[in-house]
Amino acid sequence: MTRLLILVPLAIAAVVVGQQFGWKWIFAPLLAWAMIRWSFATFRSMVHGGQGLADGPEDGPTLVGPDERTLYWCEECGTEVLLLVRGSGTPLRHCGTRMHERTEILN
Ligand SMILES: [Zn+2]
Repeated sequence: MTRLLILVPLAIAAVVVGQQFGWKWIFAPLLAWAMIRWSFATFRSMVHGGQGLADGPEDGPTLVGPDERTLYWCEECGTEVLLLVRGSGTPLRHCGTRMHERTEILN
């Protein structure tokens, strides 16, 4: 309800500005705002793998033990990443795809 109370005067002001100074002053900022929102949403989904919340350990980042070697590898280009600290259970992303996790138990 409070959103509507803000939106109505904004819409009236937008019509006044649009008619007085030209509609480019209304649509250009609106378009820019929409593009910024879209790019932030895209960036966020890239970080979280498109699932919103990460499905990992709740107790924060944990060090990977010395007797364990966890690698992430990219199917597309062959990049391998050695995991030192585990932040969440969400797989890393590379080349637009999820990287595959490979854990080696040493000794
Ligand atoms: Zn890659």
